[in-house]
Amino acid sequence: MKIVKISPHGFCAGVTGALKKALSLQGEVYCLHELVHNEIVVGDLRKRGFRFVEDIEDVPEGATVLFSAHGVSPQVRRRAMERKLKVVDATCPFVQRVHDAARKYAEEGKFVYVIGKRDHAEVKGILGEIKNPQSPLPHKIAVVSQTTMNSDLVEKTIAELKKTHEVETMAQVCHATKLRQDAVRNFTGDALLVLGSANSSNTRELGEVARCGKVFRAGTLEEVKAIDFSGVEVLGVTSGASTPESFYEEATRWLHERFSG
Ligand code: SF4
Repeated sequence: MKIVKISPHGFCAGVTGALKKALSLQGEVYCLHELVHNEIVVGDLRKRGFRFVEDIEDVPEGATVLFSAHGVSPQVRRRAMERKLKVVDATCPFVQRVHDAARKYAEEGKFVYVIGKRDHAEVKGILGEIKNPQSPLPHKIAVVSQTTMNSDLVEKTIAELKKTHEVETMAQVCHATKLRQDAVRNFTGDALLVLGSANSSNTRELGEVARCGKVFRAGTLEEVKAIDFSGVEVLGVTSGASTPESFYEEATRWLHERFSG
């Protein structure tokens, strides 16, 4: 089996920045949600003593809280202030840009249409910026999107909305997501292995945009070893933007030794 490394891989700038902030902290730190959606990264932070909570109310008063790369709603920021928490904000600047746009649209009284997954931490934070009326979708709308969606889907959704609505938008996926998705779309082998965690949106979307017949995903080397690659002649290997490069190298080395050696 031929193994093709698909570039780019490794951490994006947002994940690198979030980790740098986390690792610069001393003492007891509470991380609100997973800092990034990757089980290896989160496991390593746990070993270093980081505590993970899902609710701002679970952080003891006065403690240090780290906001994840996916950002938080203004309501969560307010509660952190009321509870006198020491906030360290690891929100990715590209996510922050979406918050800023959503808030500006909302302040201008516009109906904000969000393209994204309702239960994703990033979308929950963005929804906190807007106050849409309960009425049906008005003719004039402003559109934003989650940074890690399928870029084709974002473009198609906006094109569809424009057929029937007056649309103002800054919606686009982030650069790191677009580059990785385009590289996967251009891969012409017969199977793709996406390295990354199941709860990582950008990892899942890499599998969705693939044009080859088979797609596998693995979050650990054990999961890579458990995959049945029979029948695959050319395997492309990519990784989500929160997957450590050390895991990418470990997995591709193992695949080379096992199948091309
Ligand atoms: S994938 Fe994009 S939005 Fe998410 S952390 Fe990386 S650069 Fe930021």
